[in-house]
Amino acid sequence: MPLTFAAMYKTCFHLHTHFSDGSGSPEDFVEEALAEGFTHLGFSDHAPVPFENPWSLASAESDAYLAITEPLRNIYHTTLKVFRGLEADYIPGISYPFKQLREEYDTDYLIGSVHLVRPETGNALWFIDGSVEQEYFSGLTDLFGNDVKKAVSAFYHQQMEMVVNEKPDVLGHFDKITMHNKGRVFQEDEPWIVALQNELLELVKAHQVVVEVNTRGLYKGRHHTTYPSPALIRRCVELDIPLILSSDAHKPSEISGYYPQTMAMLEELGVKSLCVFENRHFTPVSIGEFLN
Ligand SMILES: [Zn+2]
Ligand SMILES: [Zn+2]
Repeated sequence: MPLTFAAMYKTCFHLHTHFSDGSGSPEDFVEEALAEGFTHLGFSDHAPVPFENPWSLASAESDAYLAITEPLRNIYHTTLKVFRGLEADYIPGISYPFKQLREEYDTDYLIGSVHLVRPETGNALWFIDGSVEQEYFSGLTDLFGNDVKKAVSAFYHQQMEMVVNEKPDVLGHFDKITMHNKGRVFQEDEPWIVALQNELLELVKAHQVVVEVNTRGLYKGRHHTTYPSPALIRRCVELDIPLILSSDAHKPSEISGYYPQTMAMLEELGVKSLCVFENRHFTPVSIGEFLN
């Protein structure tokens, strides 16, 4: 049933509970969202992948995840609507098909993300999103022989392949590859990187994928701006690509991390609307109707 809100909108469609690598139960997040005046909250625990790891939803936990989130998304809160999504990894030849995940988890939406880059040869994966910076640089050396162009191209091409083959609803943290780089081995405005980003943006547009504005790097102090960068957000505006705002929270207290500053930045960048989730679709609403 669609909601008609008297309230201003406040959203987070990307968060992790203790079912993946976050802390806090789904109920804890709902409680915090209600206290902070959120109107839309979506769980997006890391979808299972076919190998052992400490960060994704374990297949053995799947039933519990479904059982606990199901009543929450069916409760009619007068001010808060709750959804069940997943943040699905795309690793060519390895990850589960998104269609299968959608069906098994009866999701409202899927966020497609690349955290692990698969080089053309070999089975080792480059973890670009780990908490240990050294892992990023040793992967660059061991898997790509320090060929930065090859490594960054592999990241963007993997996202392009994901958009075309798996059709996620949302593209997660578009330029996460910049997190550990910090301007050291490449500059984000180098023409060959801009060309890769433009190619990805064209596909995002063609396949009607929503781009998330993700504030996690900012409130964790790991990155100087949102994912994607202001330059990329500007290009999304030019191409009329729909945007959502999310914090990628890993605990309830993070759900609105850096929102006021990010809202101000988005308005400055000329963003006219952000999406909410209504009737099973991301739908743009004027940015003036969002809390900031
Ligand atoms: Zn992610
Ligand atoms: Zn995430």
